[in-house]
Amino acid sequence: MKAEIFSIGTELLMGELTDTNAAWIAARLPALGIQLQWVSIIGDDLDMLANAFTQGMRRSDIIFTTGGLGPTQDDLTREGVAKALGETPTVQPEVVQELERYFQGRGASMPATNIKQAHLIPSAQFVRNRNGTAPGWWAERDGKIIVSMPGPPGEMHPIWEEEVEPRLRQIVKDEVTVTRNIKTMGLSEGAIDEIVSEYFGQENPYLGIYSKADGIHLRIIARARDTGTAQAMIAPVERGITDRLGPYIWGYDDETPEQALGQVLKQKGLTLATMESCTGGFLANTITEVPDSSSYYKGGVVAYSNEMHFASGVPPEIIESYGEVSQETANAMARAIRQRLGADFGIGITGATHPSPDESRPPGLAYLSIEGMGQLKEMELRVPPRRITIKRRVSNNALIELRKLITAGDGHRK
Ligand code: AMP
Ligand code: MG
Repeated sequence: MKAEIFSIGTELLMGELTDTNAAWIAARLPALGIQLQWVSIIGDDLDMLANAFTQGMRRSDIIFTTGGLGPTQDDLTREGVAKALGETPTVQPEVVQELERYFQGRGASMPATNIKQAHLIPSAQFVRNRNGTAPGWWAERDGKIIVSMPGPPGEMHPIWEEEVEPRLRQIVKDEVTVTRNIKTMGLSEGAIDEIVSEYFGQENPYLGIYSKADGIHLRIIARARDTGTAQAMIAPVERGITDRLGPYIWGYDDETPEQALGQVLKQKGLTLATMESCTGGFLANTITEVPDSSSYYKGGVVAYSNEMHFASGVPPEIIESYGEVSQETANAMARAIRQRLGADFGIGITGATHPSPDESRPPGLAYLSIEGMGQLKEMELRVPPRRITIKRRVSNNALIELRKLITAGDGHRK
């Protein structure tokens, strides 16, 4: 089944609002066996919308839309569908009553403009919206389907999960898509491409390679009649990749670096403390995204000045001799915080976010140190010099490298 998505709203075209709905829906289609082939952003313009629907119905089996279902005059998704199908919307009294009750429940009376949301065409049915006034539309004509949902993600997501996805499951029975995401760190995209080159170039199962802030991801996608068959197609490719890239693999599917590390720390009953400068607390924030991180994370210091380094136990002579941005300082930070907090491992991070006066340390140069259990891991990193990129990349490296240090010798994860 071929699908497309329309993200509707002039504010999307003006760059005032970022379209997150399309990606959210797109991520849910493969598992349903629906192949997405187009995503469009369309303004609140009746002719443009009607043309887009006409064109979309020619090339796809199903169109998902978000946005443009509000009560105001500029929201024209319903009108666009009606025009493309050549049908006239009429008001549905029972839905008017429902809307009136919705407003009464909030101690208000319904503005007249909301009557727009109670209109329907003969080819469409309403899709219930528990979290707002705009019901969606499910329209079917000549074997083609248009599903229109409201724009606010807080309304669209439950509608999708409760109303749309169950209906889709009944329609699309012929094929499922299963994906397996393998996450690596420490090898470049080019190096990985070479090592696992034999698996690229096939259509089913398909292997994709993606560079992300937490390393290089390899995604295996298989399409088959049922989940078991798709998984059996993925298995040999996954085994081949695991055999070749084992030590560089740190996680699978939706796993994050902080979850992967948290799991091994907890498993082995080990604790962690951090001292970070250029990441400004991002590492601590990331670690504490994980529920129950307090069972292994003792805490951390954001050392954004020499005073804070000294107060936290970094010897002044280290910074004087080697400079703030140096491997020696990162090592001293890791050691000092580990000792102060009596943790098993300490992480020290220091780096340049802006050019140094003598230009000896370019922005994006960072040093990472992991110290503990008789081991020391030193690392120099060079990342693109955007602040958020530095924070993400260096933090992720710290989390993944510590996990690697702890699991080295455990054998590869499956
Ligand atoms: P609308 O139904 O077009 O009036 O949209 C209402 C609100 O939904 C907008 O103001 C946004 O906050 C949100 N919204 C609409 N479209 C999108 C989209 N494609 N991605 C994320 N949020 C959206
Ligand atoms: Mg709108």
